[in-house]
Amino acid sequence: MKIDFDKENGLVPAIIQNYQNGSVLMLGYMNREAYEKTCETKKVTFFSRSKQRLWTKGETSGNYLNVVSISEDCDNDALLILVNPEGPTCHTGTESCFKKSFQNSFLYDLEAIISDRITGSDPNSYTKKLVERGINKVAQKVGEEAVELVIEAKDTNTDLFLNEAADLLYHILILLRAKGTSLAAVEEVLRSRSR
Ligand code: AMP
Ligand code: ZN
Ligand code: ZN
Ligand code: ZN
Repeated sequence: MKIDFDKENGLVPAIIQNYQNGSVLMLGYMNREAYEKTCETKKVTFFSRSKQRLWTKGETSGNYLNVVSISEDCDNDALLILVNPEGPTCHTGTESCFKKSFQNSFLYDLEAIISDRITGSDPNSYTKKLVERGINKVAQKVGEEAVELVIEAKDTNTDLFLNEAADLLYHILILLRAKGTSLAAVEEVLRSRSR
């Protein structure tokens, strides 16, 4: 790898991303020394601009960022590091330093929440009650939400339209779960079509 450490005071930005769920965890800067230490120890080490020294993330908290892969951008002046994090990355205790980092994968979080509701013991859970009424009821609900979305598509109110789109996606996730399958399986079908 031929990273250009000669620009910007020898510092190169490094985007740290969770290798499993794709969440962007934090951004830090590396000089050549930090980069080499990261490669050797397989623990992300930055050059801290505030501390003015090498900083291995996790050195006091134990929340290390274990390197899975390192790649450079098109012109060798930025790094993308995929990691397996030990504990929360942010010193505030959240997994990511970025509040919106999970945005792209929230459907997967929702799928997990739906699964918890169905297997959980809360008799008041809407999701649980719907599934207990049987697959036909769930499918019917998807149909109803689809019709509601179609109706809102003809209107100019974007809020209502978005809410119906949310309802539909939510109920599709329930139906997938009730059918014993998953969002990932649907994604795989879509992916195979574009190959
Ligand atoms: P750690 O590297 O997790 O042992 O934390 C050492 C110190 O670095 C903390 O006391 C914080 O001041 C700072 N720190 C830790 N994590 C972050 C982060 N994600 N972003 C900025 N500063 C951090
Ligand atoms: Zn670049
Ligand atoms: Zn943070
Ligand atoms: Zn609806």
